[in-house]
Amino acid sequence: MMNDYDYDYFVIGAGSGGVRSARIAASHGAKVGIAEGSDLGGTCVNLGCVPKKLFAYGSDFGPAFDDAKGFGWNVQGVSFDWPTLRDNKTKEISRLNGIYNNLLKNAGVELLNGYATFRDEHTLEIGDEVITAEKILIASGAKPRPPTFPGAEHVIVSDHAFYLDKLPKRILIQGGGYISVEFAHIFHGLGVHVDLIYRDTIFLRGFDSDLRDFLAAEMNKQGCVTHFNCDIDSVEKNSDGTFLVTCKDGNQIETDLVFSAIGRIPNTDGLGAEDIGLELNDNGTIAVNENYQTNIPHIYAVGDVTQTPNLTPVAIAEGHALADNLFGGMARSVNYDNIATAIFCQPPIGTIGLSEDDARAKGHNVDIYKTSFKPMKHTLSGRDEKTLMKLVVDKDTDKVLGVHMCGADAPEIIQPMAIALNCGATKADFDATMPVHPTASEEFVTMREVFSTD
Ligand code: NDP
Repeated sequence: MMNDYDYDYFVIGAGSGGVRSARIAASHGAKVGIAEGSDLGGTCVNLGCVPKKLFAYGSDFGPAFDDAKGFGWNVQGVSFDWPTLRDNKTKEISRLNGIYNNLLKNAGVELLNGYATFRDEHTLEIGDEVITAEKILIASGAKPRPPTFPGAEHVIVSDHAFYLDKLPKRILIQGGGYISVEFAHIFHGLGVHVDLIYRDTIFLRGFDSDLRDFLAAEMNKQGCVTHFNCDIDSVEKNSDGTFLVTCKDGNQIETDLVFSAIGRIPNTDGLGAEDIGLELNDNGTIAVNENYQTNIPHIYAVGDVTQTPNLTPVAIAEGHALADNLFGGMARSVNYDNIATAIFCQPPIGTIGLSEDDARAKGHNVDIYKTSFKPMKHTLSGRDEKTLMKLVVDKDTDKVLGVHMCGADAPEIIQPMAIALNCGATKADFDATMPVHPTASEEFVTMREVFSTD
C-alpha cells in the first residue's frame, strides 16, 4: 500500500484491542505504527485480568490450607508473605510486557513510546515525534473512576491495589461490581478483614438475582461483611494512620485501607479529541457506528474507550475484525450475543445468556431449573460452602436461554456452556448429554425437576 502518509494505520494504545488490530493490519500488508505511553499490554496485562487472577490464585491457598486438614494434611506453621506474591506477580507481568514487545516487532509494527495527541485529523504528536496516518485507531482503554466524596484523596483504586507496600489488616471496598467482589475475595483469602459497601439493595446489578443473593450469603458466611443500601459520605484519616469511614446513613466504620471500585471511565484525556471534533457519548466514551467508525470516517475506536462491554476478549475481537475489514478485504462483524463472563470472586461466578428476570422482561415464558449443593470436596474439608447452578429455559421452544453458576470452577465450566448456547442448545439437548461423573458440572445435564414455571 502506498500513500503520502507515514503510516497506513496508526493505533493509539498497545492494550488488548490495539495490539491485536495492529498485528492483524500488518499481517495484511499495511504499514502500521502504535503509540503506548505506559507498559505494553494495557489494563488486562498490567492492571487488570492477569495480575488479578494471579492474586486470586494466591488468595485461594488461604482456605485451601484449612481444607487440607480434613484430607489428612498437617499444615501447621503456614504463613503468607505479601511482598513475595506482589513481586512475583510483577515479574510475570514484565515477562508478558516483553512478549507483547516481541509480538509487535515480529509483526513489523513500529512502536512509539509516548501518549498520542491529535494535531489534526491525520496527524498525531507522540512526545517529540509528529506522524501522519491514513487511518487511525483509538484503543486507549479506560481507567478507574475516581471517587469524589470528602477524603477521596486517602482512597486507593484498583491500579494501586496491585502494588501495596504492605497488606492491611482491614480493608473497606466501595462498589458492587466485578472489581469490588473480586478484590473482596483476594483480600479475604489473604487474611484481611473485608467490609464491602454497596449503594443499592444487592450488588452485581445485571446478574441473575439468585446468583447475587447466593454470592452475598456465601461471602457473609466466610466473614466478609457486606453493607448494602449504604454508601460512603466521607473518609477521615486518623492520627494512627487508620481511617474512619462515615456512611450516608450515619454509620461509621474503622478500617486500615479504603478501596473504591465504582466503575471505569474512558481514557480520552490528552487525546485532543475535542480539537478535531470527535464525537463522544454522554458518558465520555467515543461514539462509533457498527464498523467502529467515529464521526470522522478514517478514525476508528475499539475496546474500553467505546461503549461496548469492558472485556478483553471483546476488545480483541473488535480490533481483529476491524483490521480484517480495513486491510484484509473482509466484511467481518463481532457477535455480541451470549457473551459468557466470569467473576473471580469466592465462590466464583460463571454466567452466560439471560438472567431469569431479563428472560421474562423479553417476553419469554420460562422454566427454571436450579440446584444448590455442598461440593463433594467439602464433605471432607468441612468448609461451609455451597454451589448454585441454574438454567433458564424457554418454555415454548425448550431453548436454554441462560446458564448461571456460583461455585468452584464456574469460570471454566461456563466457557463450553457458551458454545452450547451459541449452537442454540435446548434443555432436551442438555438432558441427552452423558454426565461426567463425579463432577459439579454434571448437574447441568441431570437437572430434571422444574423449580418454577410461568
Ligand atoms: P462495574 O461497572 O462492574 O461496577 C461498578 C459498581 O460501582 C456498581 O456496583 C455501581 O453501582 C457502583 N457505582 C458506580 N458509580 C458509583 C458512585 N458514584 N458511587 C457509588 N457506587 C457507584 O465496575 P468495576 O469498577 O467493578 O469494573 C469495571 C468493568 O471492568 C466491569 O464492568 C467489567 O466490564 C470489567 N471487569 C471485568 C472483569 C471480569 O471479566 N472478571 C473483572 C474486572 C473488571 P450500580 O450498579 O448501582 O450502578
